[in-house]
Amino acid sequence: MQCVRCRGLMVKDQFYDMLDDSGRLSFYGWRCVCCGNVLDPLIWKNKRGRHASSAHV
Ligand SMILES: [Zn+2]
Repeated sequence: MQCVRCRGLMVKDQFYDMLDDSGRLSFYGWRCVCCGNVLDPLIWKNKRGRHASSAHV
């Protein structure tokens, strides 16, 4: 897996997200060890209006 931003090495990592009343949901995504860019399908689906740490255009 290659980072789309810096083409660095991405590693599979476990993330946590909050669900309504189901408690904690953990899922796996990809994190770049070089720039810290995070790829995960859940965040892609529900893009929040807040500025993420990697949202810099
Ligand atoms: Zn990167």
